[in-house]
Amino acid sequence: MGVVVQKFGGSSLRDADLVREAARKAIRAKHGGNQVIVVVSAQGNTTDDLIAKAAEMTARPSAREMDMLLATGEQISIALTAMAIHDLGEKAVSFTGPQIGIITDDTHRKARIRGIETARLRKALDAGNIVVLAGFQGMNRREEITTLGRGGSDTTAVAVAAAMKLAGADVECEIYTDVDGVYTTDPRVVPDARKMDAISYDEMLEMASMGAGVMHSRSIEFAKKFDVPLVVRNARSDAPGTWIVPESDWMREIPVCGVALAADEARLVLEGVPDRPGVSHQIFAELANVNIAVDMIAQSAGGGGKATIGFTVLNAERDRTLRTLRPIAADLGAVLRETGRVTKVSVVGAGMRTHTGVAEKMFAALSAAGINLKMITTGDIKISVLIEEDEAAPVPAEPGEPPAAKVKQAHLDAQKAVLGRKALRAVHAAFGLAQPRKGAGVPADGSFKPRPAPLVVPGVRDREAAVARLEGMEDVLVSSAQLNPDQSRITILDLPDRPGNCSTVFNAVATGGIVVDMIVQNLTAPGKAELSFTVPRADLTRALKRTQDVVRLIDPGCRVVGDGDVAVLFVLGVGMRTHTGVARGMFGALADRGININMINTSEVCVGVVVDAARGEEALACLKEAFRIE
Ligand code: ADP
Ligand code: ASP
Ligand code: MG
Repeated sequence: MGVVVQKFGGSSLRDADLVREAARKAIRAKHGGNQVIVVVSAQGNTTDDLIAKAAEMTARPSAREMDMLLATGEQISIALTAMAIHDLGEKAVSFTGPQIGIITDDTHRKARIRGIETARLRKALDAGNIVVLAGFQGMNRREEITTLGRGGSDTTAVAVAAAMKLAGADVECEIYTDVDGVYTTDPRVVPDARKMDAISYDEMLEMASMGAGVMHSRSIEFAKKFDVPLVVRNARSDAPGTWIVPESDWMREIPVCGVALAADEARLVLEGVPDRPGVSHQIFAELANVNIAVDMIAQSAGGGGKATIGFTVLNAERDRTLRTLRPIAADLGAVLRETGRVTKVSVVGAGMRTHTGVAEKMFAALSAAGINLKMITTGDIKISVLIEEDEAAPVPAEPGEPPAAKVKQAHLDAQKAVLGRKALRAVHAAFGLAQPRKGAGVPADGSFKPRPAPLVVPGVRDREAAVARLEGMEDVLVSSAQLNPDQSRITILDLPDRPGNCSTVFNAVATGGIVVDMIVQNLTAPGKAELSFTVPRADLTRALKRTQDVVRLIDPGCRVVGDGDVAVLFVLGVGMRTHTGVARGMFGALADRGININMINTSEVCVGVVVDAARGEEALACLKEAFRIE
């Protein structure tokens, strides 16, 4: 008998009618011949309200007590949902995360799942119950209640599905929310966003981690690692939704599948960092040690033996990051600065692996909208830009937008991102994402539902080994390390910090048919940016000439430097960015060998660095060793 895991988000349980609707969906799945596990979030804005209550007590609540408080939201939902199912005449039993045995690490408020015991779950299912399980919570080995971080119920649902799969069940996971599925961008910000029929795990991972709040990115890590068939659907209708599935060829036919906005980040800059091996490691290891996930990292090449490292963290982590880094900055003789409110806009698409000119098109759209780019980073299948919000700008309400009291915190943040939203709309239009996607993907039967996949955990050959892997279900998975040895780097120093310059540069390079791989842009001094990018070594002379010509027109004061012999080195996997340890491991392994890192780029599925070509092979070998890749 198949197992269906259905997850209902907070807005889909807001009132009694919606809870009853969720109960009906669960019962229908059961009558369809399945065993059913329903994972629920706290109703409506309960979690936000609980956080506000804590703030009434103290400015710095203890993390343990916060988890004690926040876990109550989901506990209300499980009881009410079970009652609704009973009322409709079916058997149901509710459990909290700790009762079932969702074991996590000790990090209160953003705990990671270590393992899930399925015995009690299976017993309740075998007795004919619909099991209603609290999302977002678990307990550590000392039986303390923990929570998984905002939006964490998605992760509970997919993790439970993965655990049932490992226990031998044929599973499917359905995420019910307040929109019809995954859209090309947030449909509340861009009304003509289009619902996708299917999206790949990697694309969804990047979208989610770049701000598409429709799914918790960690839930997609589970889905990918454990091959869990996943569909996002509307809790209020029977519309078919969006399947999140392994990547297939048709997905690469278009370069960009979606655009995301993140409005809750802070940008910090370390200026005047000594450009020598081990420095990035020193900085990011320290942040990893206190469990701060760094989002964008842009390390620029550095002039005169000094580099600038710009990076972003969640706004909520800004003060802790500053406290952690001040002593290190002093030690390195570097200046640590924070900047104004920023938003990040990212384009994502598996097609970027084969299509060129994506960056150029994105920058051109932003330039035409008069938007200035403060930082740029690229990844295997994504490009992100950072935009500084104008603090003086008013907060306009969109026509038809619900009043503030009714919307979620994420939507309030997005409303404040005035320039970010403008940028999002411009980029969405530039890639024609509102248009139907002709000819791509729709199978003859009109469905994307994947066939049940056998258990293939990458790097793990048999079921026993896979089950052993349950210990540390959320551990990072680094699957490969690759070297692109034939690259060159071009750096533009002292580029005026004005809208349109990046667009002009990449337009000039792209019209020469030159493929740009990695791009990093940082602000180095007030009003000045440093832009570095890599091109194939064979194209260096041409690319350099084109860059010099165009830069002369922008500002004769800019300098252009070419470095003929660099190698791009990257590690690919799952959860590369959110797991604070990956960058630490990578930078640490290179530091141990005394290999200097010239450029850094991070994304959810890929961390890339630029090193001297002469040390490329050695760097690759040491990364393979560090991450135990065959
Ligand atoms: P739930 O309470 O069901 O977990 P969330 O608020 O976490 O719901 O996620 C649903 C919301 O995600 C939608 O209301 C939508 O505004 C937002 N969203 C952001 N990006 C996207 C996207 N690309 N596709 C669909 N929804 C998105
Ligand atoms: N209730 C939690 C939150 O609001 C978890 C979730 O909804 O997924 O973040
Ligand atoms: Mg959610």
